[in-house]
Amino acid sequence: MKPVIGITVSVEVNQNVGMTQQQVLFVSQEHADAVIRAGGVPYYLPLTTDPELIKQYTEQIDGLLLTGGWDVDPMWYQENPLPQLGEISPERDAAEMAIAQAFLVANKPIFGICRGHQVLAITLGCKLYQDITSQNNEAHNHSPKMPRNHPMHRIMIEPDSQLHDIIGHTEIRVNSMHHQAIRDYPDTVKVTAQAEDQIIEAIESTLYPNVLSVQWHPECMFQEYDHAQQLFDWLVKVSSKEKVHQV
Ligand code: MN
Repeated sequence: MKPVIGITVSVEVNQNVGMTQQQVLFVSQEHADAVIRAGGVPYYLPLTTDPELIKQYTEQIDGLLLTGGWDVDPMWYQENPLPQLGEISPERDAAEMAIAQAFLVANKPIFGICRGHQVLAITLGCKLYQDITSQNNEAHNHSPKMPRNHPMHRIMIEPDSQLHDIIGHTEIRVNSMHHQAIRDYPDTVKVTAQAEDQIIEAIESTLYPNVLSVQWHPECMFQEYDHAQQLFDWLVKVSSKEKVHQV
């Protein structure tokens, strides 16, 4: 059996005629495409905090992919909202925190992308810049207008890291579609990539071996750039290893 990768989704109230006010779940198809190309089987996860459901998802799904989206409510890192905070979804925040926490406790693989990177970071005890531009005047533009697959800025990868083992380079160029970033992190979080302005672009955990996240969007780059596909290959590989260990 190929490993099953659970993919989290966004939620919004649909404004289309005929579906007015219905709550709809959505995520770009690219995530599933990249997981399939890596040899995994993608499943989409509904929004829930029900402990029974979270328990069963955690048992039956081999690896978790936390996807991009809106800002996380700063309540999750004990802050009040700044004027520059973007739109939030309390329901999605609660659902993703619950499943991420459950995967950590179960010691199962997690890969976070952009917002998913920030969700994982908060679960691991980090705090965010609610808005990079207004809180860090050294930073360059991390949300320029650009094609989604454009390698917009350089990042430096820590040589002693899983990320380096996966990608095999100490420098790559990545796309950038975020106005938030990790600001503070505990000793148990290892920063594994930074942009030239020191903005954190990737982390791992010193407590959980198969957990990592990136601030950029490899799902928009996997068709053209090996370093993007290699992250999905890693997720599927460590997810299948977990399955072998359980047998
Ligand atoms: Mn960036």
